[in-house]
Amino acid sequence: MVMQKGFTIWFTGLSGAGKTTLSNLLHHRLQERGVTNVEVLDGDVVRTHLSKGLGFTKEDRDTNIRRIGWVAHLLTKHKVPNLVSAISPYREVRDEVRMMVEHSGGKGSFIEVFVDCPVCECEKRDVKGLYAKARKGELKQFTGIDDPYEEPHRPEVHIRTNEATPDEGVEMIINHLKTHGLI
Ligand code: ADP
Repeated sequence: MVMQKGFTIWFTGLSGAGKTTLSNLLHHRLQERGVTNVEVLDGDVVRTHLSKGLGFTKEDRDTNIRRIGWVAHLLTKHKVPNLVSAISPYREVRDEVRMMVEHSGGKGSFIEVFVDCPVCECEKRDVKGLYAKARKGELKQFTGIDDPYEEPHRPEVHIRTNEATPDEGVEMIINHLKTHGLI
């Protein structure tokens, strides 16, 4: 059997764009293919543990992403494929994490997946009821409403979730992994 390589799949996009949905589905698909040592890092869960107490200023958001990136780089270093979903709205800190992961996992071990969905569609979905709160002003600094989101310039995979189904989206990632010899 070929030794499993470490990699980080980094899902970035607005709240409700589909990061968690795609991450969970990809996790299943990888397990079906025999890649069983996968770790999932969900931004919402991380904020209840590793980043508990952090808020949503740019500084706190960047700290949150650096912490997740640190864990992702350790997992990648030890050849544990890891799936991260976090809004991660700032390009600079995403690129910082990319460098950290690639430093330990090698070039190509960081796969940025832009989970792209127009804010109006995310707002229609409003899975967690957060957009309604943000519109009422009950939630401040909400990405896409009154806080910025910087789109990736050159993501490895670009999924438009208002056009592709979750299965099609995951297939795009699987194809990337296969093409690059990661699975
Ligand atoms: P995020 O993790 O980005 O906040 P979630 O995955 O929690 O987003 O929510 C996305 C919602 O959008 C889910 O209810 C999901 O079923 C729905 N959805 C509809 N179409 C798609 C698609 N093509 N890809 C991913 N999610 C989709």
